[in-house]
Amino acid sequence: EDRPLAIEARGLVKSFDGTMAVQGIDISVPEGAIYGVLGPNGAGKTTTLRMLLGIIDPDQGVRRVFGHDRPHDIGRLIGYLPEERGLYPAMKAIEAIAFMGALRGLPLAEGRKRGLELLEKHDLAHAADRTIRQLSKGMAQTVQLLGTLVHRPRLVVLDEPFSGLDAINQGKLETMIRALADEGVTVIFSTHVIHHAERLCEGVAIIAGGKVPYAGSVETARDRIPAQ
Ligand code: ATP
Repeated sequence: EDRPLAIEARGLVKSFDGTMAVQGIDISVPEGAIYGVLGPNGAGKTTTLRMLLGIIDPDQGVRRVFGHDRPHDIGRLIGYLPEERGLYPAMKAIEAIAFMGALRGLPLAEGRKRGLELLEKHDLAHAADRTIRQLSKGMAQTVQLLGTLVHRPRLVVLDEPFSGLDAINQGKLETMIRALADEGVTVIFSTHVIHHAERLCEGVAIIAGGKVPYAGSVETARDRIPAQ
């Protein structure tokens, strides 16, 4: 098939202090897909995502995001929810969202306007002027996720987005991910729980020991997850 690719990575290699974290990863993600990166802790998922995003450079290999390979060009096209969650506790929710947009080049005033729309859409308008520390953990994570969307990225990368959420918030997150894909946004998320990938993903890459032993449909992936 010749669907255009949101992400194309070939032969990514990365070591830290002489220890190989990722040792030759290929990943192709079609535009508009919901794509899963599966694997146990320490497998190299976060390092791979950070290379795809241009946050860290690979030692070897190439990656393109919508055809771009310079981090500067990639930056505005993407939204990223890192594995370490965190917003400034004293910031108001709406300011946190606008601030995250500003980091991706969106003027603050536009970030506030669009942030309010997003909060309303997710029944959180009442939280706009609350500080982050006044929010429940689930609400704070939703606010952070909205902050990754406020500049209308074409690609959203979520590192273990389901971890730490209760079942209700996990369901809401699934709905948000599907809605993004319906709008044509490409979504990649990492998880060590295949269940989430089975419910959402058209394709997955399994990462184990810094390599990709399998990439393809999620149905076939189930039998190939290495034991933890
Ligand atoms: P987890 O879900 O536990 O974060 P992961 O699959 O995302 O796992 P990575 O975080 O990519 O895995 O880590 C892969 C390997 O690289 C691990 O052995 C980790 O200790 C190492 N590593 C990752 N980042 C660094 C760093 N900045 N400095 C040193 N070692 C690192």
